[in-house]
Amino acid sequence: MDYQQLLENIYQSIMPYAGDGKQADYIPELAKVNPDQFGMYIHSIYGETASVGDADTRFSIQSISKVFALALCLSIKGDELWKRVGREPSGTTFNSLIQLEVEHGIPRNPFINAGAIVMADILLSHFEQPERDFLSFVRAIAEDETIDYNRDVANSERENGYLNAAIANLLKYHGTIENDIESVLHFYFMMCSIEMNCRELAFAFLAFANHRRRFDYAGITLTSSQVKRINAIMQTCGFYDEAGEFAYFVGLPGKSGVGGGIVAIHPLQYSVAVWSPRLNPKGNSVMGMKALELLTTETKESIF
Ligand code: GLU
Repeated sequence: MDYQQLLENIYQSIMPYAGDGKQADYIPELAKVNPDQFGMYIHSIYGETASVGDADTRFSIQSISKVFALALCLSIKGDELWKRVGREPSGTTFNSLIQLEVEHGIPRNPFINAGAIVMADILLSHFEQPERDFLSFVRAIAEDETIDYNRDVANSERENGYLNAAIANLLKYHGTIENDIESVLHFYFMMCSIEMNCRELAFAFLAFANHRRRFDYAGITLTSSQVKRINAIMQTCGFYDEAGEFAYFVGLPGKSGVGGGIVAIHPLQYSVAVWSPRLNPKGNSVMGMKALELLTTETKESIF
C-alpha cells in the first residue's frame, strides 16, 4: 500500500470542505487557533508512515485524552471500574446532564464528560501526583518527553466550565466521585489540555492498534483483551452522538476531540490521526471525518 500517495489523494479530495464548520469557541482559548489547518498522519504496525499538511503542528487533544485516562483506569481498577461507569453509547451530547440524572449518577460510558470526570476522580485518588503521573504515561506511550499540558487552555476551560461543574456536582451528589469537586475538575481540564500533533497521536495509538504487542508504559500494563475492549468502546462511544455515523461512514474504532483532532485505528494494521479545527454541529472535525471516510473507501477495508 502506497500510503503517501493515498494521503495526498485524500488531501486533494477534501479541499472543497475547507471552509465548512466552525471551531469550538465555548473554550475561549481554543477559539484563538487558526481554523484553516489540516494534518494527517498514518503509521502502520510494521513501521510504514506517511503524512500530509500540518501533521507536525501540536493542538489541544481534548477528549482524545479520555482514551489514555481509560487505559490508566482499567489498568488500576480492572473490572471494578464498571461499577462506577457504564460502557454503552449515550446517544446524547458529550456534556449532557439529562441521562446522568435519570441513571442516578452512573455515566453511560468513559468518553462522555461525566464518565471522564469519574475517571479523573479515580486517578486523583490513586496517584500521589496525578498530573505528573498522567503526563508520564502519555509521554511514555508516545515516546516523547516534550508533550505537555497547556495551562492557558485548562484555565480558560475552568473559567467557562459551567456545564462540567454541574456534571461534577451531580456526580458528587450521587456519591460517584470521592474527591472535592474543584480538584476533580482541575485535573479533568488539565487532561483535556494536553497538546500533541498527528504524528505523535498516530504513534501513541499503535499501542491500541497492535493489541498483540505487550502494553506496558510507565508501569501501566493492560492485557490484550483489555486493549481490544478499549477499542470496542472507541467504536461504540468515541464520537459523542455521532458514533453511529462514524461507524457507518468510516468503520474504525476512534476518538475525537473538540480541538478538531480524531485518531482511529485499524486493528493489526495501522493507526491514523487527523486534525482540522473546524467542527460539524456534533463537535467532530469536518475535514477529519471526510478524510477518514475516504481512507477506508480507498483502501477498501474497514473493520466491517
Ligand atoms: N474539555 C472538553 C469539555 O469538557 C472536552 C470536550 C471534547 O473534546 O469532547 O467540554
